[in-house]
Amino acid sequence: MSGDYLVRATALDGKVRAFALRATGLVEELRDRHDTSPAVTAALGRTAMGSLLMAAASLKEPDQLLTVEIRGGGPVGRILCTANGRGGVRGMVSNPHAHADSVHPGKLNVAGVVGTAGYLSVTKDLGMKEPYRGTVELQSGEIGDDFAYYLAQSEQTASAVGLGVYTTRETLVDAAGGFLVQLLPGLSEEEIVAIEREVAALPHPTRLIRDGLAPEQVLERIFPAGYELLDRYPVAFACPCSKDRFEAAIVTLGSEEINRIIEEEENDYTEVVCHFCNEAYKFEPADMQRILQAAS
Ligand code: ZN
Repeated sequence: MSGDYLVRATALDGKVRAFALRATGLVEELRDRHDTSPAVTAALGRTAMGSLLMAAASLKEPDQLLTVEIRGGGPVGRILCTANGRGGVRGMVSNPHAHADSVHPGKLNVAGVVGTAGYLSVTKDLGMKEPYRGTVELQSGEIGDDFAYYLAQSEQTASAVGLGVYTTRETLVDAAGGFLVQLLPGLSEEEIVAIEREVAALPHPTRLIRDGLAPEQVLERIFPAGYELLDRYPVAFACPCSKDRFEAAIVTLGSEEINRIIEEEENDYTEVVCHFCNEAYKFEPADMQRILQAAS
């Protein structure tokens, strides 16, 4: 399979669950839609890929949703990504142009834009009455480590997470990908040590994907004795917004607020922009009158 996709696998008789993805086109689309600076591209891309990997690990149905919110106190502000159970993800940040000087020459300072004093929270909407929500304090602001810490703390699953985004000087995304490995109960001490050794010996995720390794090849590196491929599906940027959805949302504002919007509008139309995909929807005066009617 070419392009962006995710693989789901098991190893060691089902005692290890593993996921890996390539998402170069997806992260480039996030960069393009939000016009993000290089460090923000990496932060948003890593969060989007981590969300997809966690969605693959924990959502059972295509229309279930998993939302990750990171607030680290850094210049990027809030990072928000929502992944569904069929490989779609959307994301946004408060400040797309945020910048932090490099600490290591040639390396993006992701923790510098994200910040390290804050939290990562995960909300799972499984279609029940109440969504499930868990929160942990940020550990490094590098995001991969923070996802692993969340899984260990909030879901009691020992996990290794590697996420990498590689951008050139022209800010285009050249490569993006990552992996998630979960150790389940029943593993022997030797088996755990062996997996930890393979994961620790891996090059930085950015190097792995820069070298052009496909998701299957990343898993081969982690499980030299072999693994069982369970599933493989495409991943892509996906925002469910539409003019109809925004119209329904405006109706809920009530007639007073809608009248105020119409009166204060300086153009001969009303424009609504989706924060997640930057798509702009135009509402003509006739549209707004119809919406006002529906609200009254
Ligand atoms: Zn949208």
